[in-house]
Amino acid sequence: MTGADTSTNAEEFARARAAMPGGVNSPVRAFGSVATTPRFFVSASGPYVTDVEGREYVDLVGSWGPAILGHAHPAVVHAVQDAASRGLGFGASTPGETSLAEIVRARVGRGDSWPLDKIRLVSTGTEATMTAIRLARGATGRDLVVKFAGHYHGHSDGLLAEAGSGVATLALPGSAGVPAAIAAQTLVLPYNDLDAVREVFSARGSEIAAVIVEAAAANMGIVPPSHGFNAALADVVHAHGALLILDEVLTGFRVGSAGWWGIDPVPFAPDLFTFGKVVGGGLPLAALGGRAELLDLLAPLGPVYQAGTLSGNPLAVAAGLATLEHLDSAAYTRIDEASAAISTAASEALSAEGVAHVVQRAGSLFSIAFAETAPHDYDTVRAQDAFRYPPFFRAMLDEGVSLPPSVFEAWFVSAAHDERAIDRIVAALPGAAKAAASA
Ligand code: PMP
Repeated sequence: MTGADTSTNAEEFARARAAMPGGVNSPVRAFGSVATTPRFFVSASGPYVTDVEGREYVDLVGSWGPAILGHAHPAVVHAVQDAASRGLGFGASTPGETSLAEIVRARVGRGDSWPLDKIRLVSTGTEATMTAIRLARGATGRDLVVKFAGHYHGHSDGLLAEAGSGVATLALPGSAGVPAAIAAQTLVLPYNDLDAVREVFSARGSEIAAVIVEAAAANMGIVPPSHGFNAALADVVHAHGALLILDEVLTGFRVGSAGWWGIDPVPFAPDLFTFGKVVGGGLPLAALGGRAELLDLLAPLGPVYQAGTLSGNPLAVAAGLATLEHLDSAAYTRIDEASAAISTAASEALSAEGVAHVVQRAGSLFSIAFAETAPHDYDTVRAQDAFRYPPFFRAMLDEGVSLPPSVFEAWFVSAAHDERAIDRIVAALPGAAKAAASA
């Protein structure tokens, strides 16, 4: 029951729902908020995905970020096949892990600032942020963590309060099952609001271990940091002896060779970085990194414990290495150009139908907000005309374009989105804009 000739999406959905909660293994894949039958994919290549019914779509989900070179890039697939033929994992160290750590370290620099001495590889972004927080607490001897409303940092207990991504799509305030005592250790502030940051630090600064922030918010749709926000945030955090954790799981190696940190108009110095998605090239791999004196607090050198059976898995390392190797400046230029072409076409189509909208951008990342003015935090994101997205989404899907099934997610463009793929998107947009207008 996996071949394109043997079932329909509706049949697969019925089967999946009976076997898995909501028919999914990650809520962001559910199509509840766009009210149509989810597509069940069986293969993907370049900018395209193909469903069980044999229908091909131009893909703007990109595996939620990792597929930055396009799906099944031959060099990445070859690297993984080659690694697999030599063993799926050894539970011991490999030269490839060191190479990946070295490459990450070598990429994340700016001028004479090279903030990553050491990197630890883990398997998911959730683990990376969870470990970064434990490390910050271990380093500072403090318990409180500050996060921003609408930011998503994975699904660890302390980070789900007013989270973005699927938590936002489902309009949840957080998650059941998180003990109140743990939730109380997280303080949630409005994004882009430095006064709120200063206030919380003047009230409780000596208890705060860290602020965790998405380098550019991309899990409530895109909401870029206001000019200098990250730098001013770093100043406040450091003035109180706390640490700044820059979450680049989504932006890292996507918006540029050194992530958002490398292109933020005002340079600043985070203490810990988290990476995921692109760094694993489509396989489960993520990382945290920072100065040696911090990273060396991790076991076995230090008292902060963290471990993983599959950490640094050789197939994932091979995929990450091959992906980063092909992410040269020409690839970033292609992504920038494709992203500009698609976002401009979407905006023109919506304008032609008189639909109020703003293209929200952070480097090559973008999303459309159905609002008169650009949302700058979670409240303004939620105030948009979100009801316009489901009909827009369904019209695009009907025309063979797969968008993220939520208005609160980024559109992921790859280096493989060539003219043909872009033309197909552009052709689908007028009808989708009409659907959005009549919502
Ligand atoms: N941080 C950010 C900024 C993310 O976008 C995500 C995933 N979308 C995560 C952390 C969690 O990563 P994972 O899904 O791999 O656990």
